[in-house]
Amino acid sequence: MITFEQVSVQYPDAAAPALAGVDLTIPEGELCLLVGPSGAGKSTLLGTVSGLVPHFTGGTLHGRVTVAGRDTRRHRPRDLADLVGTVGQDPGAQFVTDTVEEELAYGMESLGLAPAVMRRRVEETLDLLGLAELRNRPLAALSGGQRQRVAIGSVLTVHPRVLVLDEPTSALDPGAAEEVLAVVQRLVHDLGTTVLLAEHRLERVVQYADRILLLPGDGRPAQLGDPAEVLAQ
Ligand code: ADP
Ligand code: ADP
Repeated sequence: MITFEQVSVQYPDAAAPALAGVDLTIPEGELCLLVGPSGAGKSTLLGTVSGLVPHFTGGTLHGRVTVAGRDTRRHRPRDLADLVGTVGQDPGAQFVTDTVEEELAYGMESLGLAPAVMRRRVEETLDLLGLAELRNRPLAALSGGQRQRVAIGSVLTVHPRVLVLDEPTSALDPGAAEEVLAVVQRLVHDLGTTVLLAEHRLERVVQYADRILLLPGDGRPAQLGDPAEVLAQ
């Protein structure tokens, strides 16, 4: 589903590349966990998948990243939105409407779907993410975990095949973090969505992962293995 071929990213003025010679394949329908210390290159790697790198961050990308066969360097992030949904650490920063239901509908508005299809997708997503009772709730009145679920829902209504989550639980307490991770795991199992999730606290997310990629800090992912293998080391 996602392939990296000899991918390097160099930011201007940086002494060392943020990513160096990355070769990887992430299969469809798996939750791939990207772990590593702050500054290791996790956001950069996610950015090459969503197209934020190189289009919006000033890094120079060498090599090739493809998602479902599409070269992310050749498309602006907006043109990849039907394929890759991206949610950052601060969900509030990407809200553009006032209520839960409006926010879930917003992402679809540029897709040219029939109103009935849009309504059905909103209903499906409200159910899937456990948000049905909050549909008319102002976004400003939501808890952290609820906000993060709405942010995920707002990209899911577009039906992306890949979901990119950058430390989605960093601002959440353990209970709310579990609530969000359980939802993400359900997406992988029920919809076959491929998820790439970055996190610096391995212990918080390891139980949800199908595959773990360690970024130790030198720009080279150390390993792509299953969680039991990685934890045994
Ligand atoms: P992580 O997500 O693991 O914290 P990042 O991908 O954000 O790591 O950063 C990797 C390295 O690249 C760090 O040294 C960081 O300072 C640098 N970096 C990240 N984004 C930029 C940018 N837009 N411009 C210059 N340097 C950057
Ligand atoms: P459409 O809205 O294009 O008519 P549906 O809403 O009926 O299509 O969904 C088509 C398929 O996509 C169904 O099998 C459904 O389970 C699945 N699906 C629903 N929501 C999502 C989602 N957020 N991401 C990926 N697949 C989804």
